[in-house]
Amino acid sequence: MAGYLRIATEEAFAPPELIARYRKLLEDGYDDPGFRSLWGFYSGASPRATALAERIQDLGERRLRDMDDTGIAMQILSLTAPGVQVFDAPEATALARSFNDQLSDAIRKHPDRFSGLAAIAPQDPAGAAKELERGVRQLNLKGAIVNSHTRGEYLDDSKFWAIFEAAEYLNVPVYIHPTTPPKSMIGPFIERGLDGAIFGFAVETGLHLLRIIVSGVFDRFPKLRIVAGHLGEGLPYWLFRIDFMHAAMVKANRYPAVQKLQKKPSEYIKENMYVTTSGMAWEPPILYAQSVLGVDRVLYAMDYPYQFVPEEVKVTDHLPISDADKKKLYQSNAEQVFSI
Ligand code: CA
Repeated sequence: MAGYLRIATEEAFAPPELIARYRKLLEDGYDDPGFRSLWGFYSGASPRATALAERIQDLGERRLRDMDDTGIAMQILSLTAPGVQVFDAPEATALARSFNDQLSDAIRKHPDRFSGLAAIAPQDPAGAAKELERGVRQLNLKGAIVNSHTRGEYLDDSKFWAIFEAAEYLNVPVYIHPTTPPKSMIGPFIERGLDGAIFGFAVETGLHLLRIIVSGVFDRFPKLRIVAGHLGEGLPYWLFRIDFMHAAMVKANRYPAVQKLQKKPSEYIKENMYVTTSGMAWEPPILYAQSVLGVDRVLYAMDYPYQFVPEEVKVTDHLPISDADKKKLYQSNAEQVFSI
């Protein structure tokens, strides 16, 4: 026995209805090059897309078999990117509700193997806050999943803060998961095929997280917890420079939108954020993230089924860290952050 359970914290699912709606958006000429790039590919017929489509729609035996084969005790499930954030508000809100009900049914059938986060539609911030509350209180979901920008808008805009207020009040985290960069920034990425998980996801989501930090969201909601995948989307590497330049910009009064915060930007990253290892099964950055954020702040994730590589579990099993820290990484941090 390993002495720990492997809880994978950023594992995607997509109901068949969501894939059908994505196909319809593509057919209708939905004008978002990132969405067209991502779902144009994953709704196609390539071997990678076909394998993904089979796995991502399954919330039963197929998924459990893959988990057994890789030693994953539990998946924390979330609606795949871009979730419902590409639809008009009423449709997005109704779909989020329906998908949360479906997720909750799957969890009820396998409560020791599945847990999950509530999909929400930030297009209607008050409705999103309400759905998060329903998800947590009635469906036993453990937080919210937001697939980064919503039609080019970011959660640091105070019109969205009802979502943060609800998350803080309910004491559940908001997982900010990547999506492709919005139309306004995707051009230079897509020209070289860099818009997706290879790099564009991290740039766009890192930007989103940093916007939230410098906007003062955590001063307004000091107990809010945000989870980021992919070892923090690059931010842990930048802490020194972000702090240095933020202080210099505040002192110079260079931008009206850059105001003094109660803490250094890095302190919010260390005290209000958690990062997961999704897609980053590589010893140096995992150890680095643990060293700068603390071992209580780094959680295991596989990124199933996008990155379903069984050998990656071995990389994590063999990290040169103590058994106690490995248990935190794989199990107890997830139990604490998601109240499992
Ligand atoms: Ca993912």
